[in-house]
Amino acid sequence: MNPQAMDAFWMPFTANRHFKANPRMLVSADGMYYQDDAGRSILDGCAGLWCVNAGHNRKPIVEAIQRQAATLDYAPPFQMGHPKAFEAAERLAEMAPAGLDKVFFVNSGSEAADTALKMAIAYHRVRGDAGRVKLVGRERGYHGVNFGGISVGGIAGNRKLFPVALPATDHIRSTHDLARNAFTRGEPEFGAEFADELEARITTLHDPSTIAAVIVEPMAGSTGVLIPPKGYLKRLREICDKYGILLIFDEVITGFGRLGADWAANKFDVLPDIITCAKGLSNGVVPMGALIVKPAIHDAFMAAAAERAIEFPHGYTYSAHPLACAASVATLDLYRDEGLFQRAANLAPRFEEKAHALRGTRHIKDIRNLGLVAGIELDSRPGAPGARGMDVFLKCWEKGVLVRFTGDIIAVSPPLIISEAEIDRLFATIGEAIHEAD
Ligand code: PMP
Repeated sequence: MNPQAMDAFWMPFTANRHFKANPRMLVSADGMYYQDDAGRSILDGCAGLWCVNAGHNRKPIVEAIQRQAATLDYAPPFQMGHPKAFEAAERLAEMAPAGLDKVFFVNSGSEAADTALKMAIAYHRVRGDAGRVKLVGRERGYHGVNFGGISVGGIAGNRKLFPVALPATDHIRSTHDLARNAFTRGEPEFGAEFADELEARITTLHDPSTIAAVIVEPMAGSTGVLIPPKGYLKRLREICDKYGILLIFDEVITGFGRLGADWAANKFDVLPDIITCAKGLSNGVVPMGALIVKPAIHDAFMAAAAERAIEFPHGYTYSAHPLACAASVATLDLYRDEGLFQRAANLAPRFEEKAHALRGTRHIKDIRNLGLVAGIELDSRPGAPGARGMDVFLKCWEKGVLVRFTGDIIAVSPPLIISEAEIDRLFATIGEAIHEAD
């Protein structure tokens, strides 16, 4: 591509100058593979960005979007409805963990997080508990990039240029504990007690009756695939129950089969009050996100407002967009009809075996995995944190495999349609890339 034609697009979360000097351009995609502008086939080891769980260019989804665009391209979401929105909500509620069945649509994971935080504060207020305004997140948590999300999120780098985050927030520490849990297969044995810090902080630094909600990713994805220690999430649930605090699970990555189960909530047998999701909800094909909410929360809003009043003054021009709803219904059909969550569970043992077979490769400090997600943590090059991670990412790209890196952690999360041979190739390539990287 002509470098001048690349000037206008200011790319998100990208080293723009580095990228534009040596661009990596994807021009088409099908099944497990991207094609780049040189005609190379690239094995998608990341489901795009943790979202294309059913694989690329799936006909039923493409056709559903085409049909919808030709039938009803857009409908205002405020004070108006359209059938696909109700159908999509019904379908999502049906497949949600038992006990969560009200669906509020948004357009992304970031919007889902900020909407959930607003909903939590407003929920307490409509019940007459207006003092609950504080929000607790976790170090190394990622809840998108909007102001609520970065405030409860735990990534300093995402906040340093924006020192105006919400003030009424606090954070508990991350569960990452290499000293005790390195090279664990599946859920780590040690660290359930990290949850007790929640109780310690809210009772000593705060008044627990001022806390509206706790938000965590059941498994932290973007900051390096941090699997929750056994018992940790249950303990968080108990503490939230004890103090009347809502528990929000950000399942933007963990939803829709990634962990070898439909939801992390079911995988870990812990029911939050609100699940946020996005990504796999529409197979990444059209932007879409959602909150799935306990009926008691929904009902509190309904009970508090007069019949003609807007119960929750919040929403977007593109909430429940017809194309997104059509994509989502078709996606959920595909997951069901092809048994893709079970397929992920069936493939998980081989995925685990191949991931951990890399143990012993130089620079590898940890390998962790669950379902069809794995993180490979490398030691950092002295004075250049993140440089080795980027090198491995670039080497994999040269070898025709797309992985992600976050600092010096390589993350893989392929579409759930991956074959055994592709799993083998994915990890073999990562091993070679690490070996060759300086
Ligand atoms: N929450 C989590 C757990 C995520 O992984 C992400 C995206 N990686 C988001 C929120 C933000 O989603 P989006 O980029 O769609 O705004």
